[in-house]
Amino acid sequence: MKEKKYLLWGVVFVLLGSGFYFGKCFLFKPKVKNIILMIGDGMGPQQIALAMQYAKQAPHSTVSDRTLNLEKLSKDSYVGLMTTYTYENLVTDSAASATQLSTGKMSRSEIIGIDFEGNPQEVLVEKAKKIKMATGLVTNTRVTHATPAAFAAHVQHRGMENDIATQLLELQPDIMLGGGLRHFLPQSLEGFEEDMPSHLRLKSKRKDDLNLLKQAKSLGYDLTFSKQDLQASTSNKILGLFATSEHPDAIEIHAHANDTTYPTPNLKEMTQKALDVLSKNKNGFFLMVEGGQIDYAGHYNDAGWLLHEMLDFDEAIGAVYEWTKNRKDTLVIITADHETGGFGFSYSKNDIPEPKPLPGKAFEGSLFSPLYNFGNIEVLDQIYTQKKSFATIFDEFDALPENQQRPSALQSLFNEASEFKISLEQAKSVLMKEPNMYYRKGHKYLDQKEWPVICDFKEFFTYGDYTRLNLLARAIAKDQQVVWATGTHTSTAVAVIAWGPKAVREQFSGIHHSTQIGQLIGAQLR
Ligand code: MG
Ligand code: ZN
Repeated sequence: MKEKKYLLWGVVFVLLGSGFYFGKCFLFKPKVKNIILMIGDGMGPQQIALAMQYAKQAPHSTVSDRTLNLEKLSKDSYVGLMTTYTYENLVTDSAASATQLSTGKMSRSEIIGIDFEGNPQEVLVEKAKKIKMATGLVTNTRVTHATPAAFAAHVQHRGMENDIATQLLELQPDIMLGGGLRHFLPQSLEGFEEDMPSHLRLKSKRKDDLNLLKQAKSLGYDLTFSKQDLQASTSNKILGLFATSEHPDAIEIHAHANDTTYPTPNLKEMTQKALDVLSKNKNGFFLMVEGGQIDYAGHYNDAGWLLHEMLDFDEAIGAVYEWTKNRKDTLVIITADHETGGFGFSYSKNDIPEPKPLPGKAFEGSLFSPLYNFGNIEVLDQIYTQKKSFATIFDEFDALPENQQRPSALQSLFNEASEFKISLEQAKSVLMKEPNMYYRKGHKYLDQKEWPVICDFKEFFTYGDYTRLNLLARAIAKDQQVVWATGTHTSTAVAVIAWGPKAVREQFSGIHHSTQIGQLIGAQLR
């Protein structure tokens, strides 16, 4: 009898327990109205640390209150880690990684919006549109580039940017801001010679005479080509194309920070406009903001450029933080698609500091004398004051008449732009070439007979003459106290910073794979 009683109570407890369980998981679904996904392309934990160290440690830090917006926002966030590997591969590219975030499904290298088996999967902009949310994509690379594309398109390869442009206009996110004009103009460029503002280089990459700008206009988009156009727009549907390809780099953007006539909006200005417009929708919105050139700086191993891109991204985070900080209906996710460059400060045997006294008791009568050079904080200021990206330096070098493209010219171009100086010998070795042992006919980058001479890990420097930029980084490595592992991506787990109502943000805490983070975001869009 007693046993039966226990059994009965047991059944009651199980039912109550499962009811609570089901209640929590299936009946009560914590939901937000708006989702803002911010992706620092190539922003590993090391890149975040660079920006943090600059803010905190640089003797002349330009960051207000020495506090990054990322740090402010992270105070009320759950922070997790995310692995980014793809199906059957160790390292991801931006296309596969963003596809995994966007679909919650495993994907493969260089694929957009398609799973590992080759099936198109619903992407986040499609999911959001289905439930009548407003949608937006903002980037400082091309709007047709891998990261934004993976939230709104389905193509076999990320290089199919003309098809991506066409698909963007089929799906019609309300806001699309970034570069990439060349994929929207007809091949013939007919009729555009006089029409376009002078800061845009007139060029088409299309293989047809489709005029996607005309098409966008007929679909109700307000077309904007400059910061001034963008800010003046009163439309709820904006296509802003501010560069032929990607935007100017953040060193240049920051150099024009106080110039109201400068035609290119920065990431923060684009983000603010997107928030203004999208937040008018009563059903909420999904917005993806990409700091897309953190990755570029990583590929070229350019620490000065990298720092400026990180600060530019952080300013956009500031706009999001200001917009959301008093709200309870918005989820903000800040993450990355992978790390680029294998970046880090590193200690060395070069220039070991002299022993010095310390005021504390433990050092009475003896000197503080570490065995190695652990890096001076002044380096952070010197990295920040770099005047031009390595890419700009080489654009200028390559534009010289051929007989002037000498090591001495490179040396003076570089030394004018950087507080780290290279010698003539170093300039010479940056410009040296050898036969390309990985030559592949017809390959986008490997189809060149000669390649800059890089002695170790040479397999990981894959972008032809851009390898000269990586060599510049090596020339100043010992003075910058910076090392780089690669010219491509690494498998480093990236940060996931989730801000919003507790029941939602806490789901992102812990260590996840990018498909799981994609599923968690997707679950908010049902
Ligand atoms: Mg990207
Ligand atoms: Zn990359």
